[in-house]
Amino acid sequence: MEALLEGVEPSGTPLGITYKEEDPGLVARAEGWYDDKAKQAREADRCIFCNLKEEFVIAHYHGWTMTTNFYPRSRANLLVLPDDHKESITEFDDNDAIARLRLEQLGYSLVQESFGLKAVHFNLREGGGDKTVDHIHSHIMHYYHGIMKWYNEQNMPERVFRTPEEVGQPLLPRIEVAKTLQEALAKRLEVAA
Ligand SMILES: [Zn+2]
Repeated sequence: MEALLEGVEPSGTPLGITYKEEDPGLVARAEGWYDDKAKQAREADRCIFCNLKEEFVIAHYHGWTMTTNFYPRSRANLLVLPDDHKESITEFDDNDAIARLRLEQLGYSLVQESFGLKAVHFNLREGGGDKTVDHIHSHIMHYYHGIMKWYNEQNMPERVFRTPEEVGQPLLPRIEVAKTLQEALAKRLEVAA
C-alpha cells in the first residue's frame, strides 16, 4: 500500500455523473459578495465546515477531511480541516497534527498529478484577522508570483497582483475539481488494493 493512502477513506457519496452548471462560487470573490455570504452563514450560527457536503469531499483521514473550496482563490483550491469543530491549533493533539499533514501531502500529490500544480502553499490562519469561518482549516492553493502581496514588497513595481487567468491557470468549477480528484484517488486506491 502506498504510504500516503494508508488509513485514507474516499468520499462516502462521491459526485455522480457530472453536469454543467453555473458555478457562482468562481466569481464570489472577484465580484465582492463572498464576505456577505460568509457573514450570513455566521449570523445563522450554522458552521459550514461542521456541515460539509459529502459529494464534494475528496478524502477522510482519522477524523479529518479534505474537500474542495466552493469559493476558490486559485486553481483547484482544497481545504483540509478537522471534523470536530476546533478553532485553534492549540486544540490539536498528536492525531490532528498527523492527520492534517497526511491530507496535505495527499492533496498536494493529487493536484500535482491531476492539474499539474507543482507550486502550492499550505495556508492555515490562526486567531482573528479577516478570516471568515472560525472552524480551523488549511488551504492547499496554487502559488504563483503575484497571487498575493507581501507587506514589505508593496512598493516594488514588479510585485503586482495577477489573476489566475493572467497566469494561464484559471479557476475551475468545484464540480470539476471534486470529480477529477475523487476519480484520481479512487484509481490509486484500486491499484493499491
Ligand atoms: Zn465547525
